[in-house]
Amino acid sequence: MLTFKELGLEDRLLTAITDMGFTKPSEIQEKAIPILLEKDKDLVALAQTGTGKTAAFGFPLLQKIDPAKKSVQGLILSPTRELCLQITQELALYGAHMPGINTVAVYGGASITDQASKLRKGAQIVVATPGRIKDMISRRLIDISSIRYCILDEADEMLNMGFLDDIKDILSNTPSERHTWLFSATMPKEVAQIAKQFMRKPDEITVGSKNTGSVNVNHEYYVVSGNNRYKALKRLADANPEIFSVIFCRTKRDTQRIAEKLIEDGYNAGALHGDLSQNQRDIVMKSFRNRQIQMLVATDVAARGIDVDDITHVINYQLPDETETYTHRSGRTGRAGKSGISMVIITKSEIRKIRSIERIIKKEFERKDIPGPEEICEIQLYHLSDKIRNTKIDKNIEPYLPAVNDVLEGIDREELIRKLVTVEFSRFASYYKDTDNLNASGDERVSGGNESVRYFINVGARDGYDWKTLKDFLRVQLNLERDEVFKVEVKDSFSFFSSEPSVKQQILDTFSEFKLDGRFINVEISEPTGRGGGGKKGKKGRKSRERFDGNQKFGHKGKRGKQSAKNKNKRKQR
Ligand code: ADP
Ligand code: MG
Repeated sequence: MLTFKELGLEDRLLTAITDMGFTKPSEIQEKAIPILLEKDKDLVALAQTGTGKTAAFGFPLLQKIDPAKKSVQGLILSPTRELCLQITQELALYGAHMPGINTVAVYGGASITDQASKLRKGAQIVVATPGRIKDMISRRLIDISSIRYCILDEADEMLNMGFLDDIKDILSNTPSERHTWLFSATMPKEVAQIAKQFMRKPDEITVGSKNTGSVNVNHEYYVVSGNNRYKALKRLADANPEIFSVIFCRTKRDTQRIAEKLIEDGYNAGALHGDLSQNQRDIVMKSFRNRQIQMLVATDVAARGIDVDDITHVINYQLPDETETYTHRSGRTGRAGKSGISMVIITKSEIRKIRSIERIIKKEFERKDIPGPEEICEIQLYHLSDKIRNTKIDKNIEPYLPAVNDVLEGIDREELIRKLVTVEFSRFASYYKDTDNLNASGDERVSGGNESVRYFINVGARDGYDWKTLKDFLRVQLNLERDEVFKVEVKDSFSFFSSEPSVKQQILDTFSEFKLDGRFINVEISEPTGRGGGGKKGKKGRKSRERFDGNQKFGHKGKRGKQSAKNKNKRKQR
């Protein structure tokens, strides 16, 4: 693994890289940067979204620009206005210590004269959408005749959006000795054709395998009957209180309708589709970026510009027609080395579509059940407890405390907690009262159905587990066969899993006094009754939960705090 310095980057860039907190190059950066710096060749680079492609071309480009010349030397074509702005902002950060280099963004939906006047002041790098720059070329508002580098970013998206002719047109207006760097997540034949027609003996590099999804994304599907789609969506949201997601619908109408229903039902949701004005879209994206919107319902076209890190879930409310679209959707999560989940809500007749997606993305989907009311209540209550524990006390409440204390006088801690939890519990319990199992009975369930036992365990995603690694951990600790633990469901700070009843005692025994890194790992039966085999949560369970709380302090909180502080910083910079 090379360092940024070893890749050949100059000091002024290295300083900016340190400022930004990048410690080591991503794979695509490690592969692309030396080729672009040293070999001065055309390049086709294939890598999923979120792998750091902007810096892979941005660093070498900045290093190669001559700040003394005021002419346009580098042209970056990108599919949407949002991406143009994002790239421009990133380049500003990368070039923070390189005075004299100017980058201008050129895109539709904003004043062309303003953009032209910025260009006249001298810009060595232009980041443009194909439509707008073509317009500017034909109106002679920009001169790209002395361009040395042309970068096609998200080439597959640009072609998907019908920019093929524009791109050909633009490229034919640039000098033939220019170098072309093509970056793309997938390699459909249209992209290959561009490479063939407009590039000279390009080097080709690939990170991951072509046309497959990010390695950090787990794929899940849920089979429901068509009229339960919306209910299923809500339950998935309720079972993931910290969800930060994009929900894909096929039509603008569905997108608007689902978003409105979610808002009516009290979720922090918003819609993003082509019938909104640019201004409305900007407002929605801003709220999404700062997390006021937790569930962004979007069409595929509108979502193309979404380049937000930390999205936890992509939910396919309906499956897209094209598998490639699925790859793009799921690529919205699992970015920048984080893990993500792509969920698909389907009806029984669509199961075969899942199989064909699996073949193309070369990853298996996990079939899961829409969580039932008890599970959701349980998750919500743990979430509440966690939130209470981690809430910083607001000093402004001081004046009100005496009155509140008066009212609550004489209630002891135990009882107070019970009451507090009841308040929250009743909300969900009453909503879910009399609701049924949403899962369509499937043909290919593997797990033990009614016979299984469900468990709670006090480790989760925060401790670095996903369902696969937790399943592996359990299997190793318990010395079990592959299928004896199943339905492993990892939440933020805790998880659930199921087992055959035959190994119940073994599991409880193994984890009765189990310590990992000085912390008690606690397993208890989760569901009170119902699926058979499970007894009620006994006294012992409660006691050990207290012990777990006591230990939680030096668990994982530090890491998380740092993480979110870093993200906040980053957002501020943007
Ligand atoms: P892509 O264009 O491949 O979708 P981006 O260039 O938008 O990916 O990068 C995704 C995120 O990762 C951005 O927030 C970017 O700042 C960050 N990033 C890029 N390179 C690195 C690195 N070497 N170390 C840490 N973070 C990085
Ligand atoms: Mg990008």
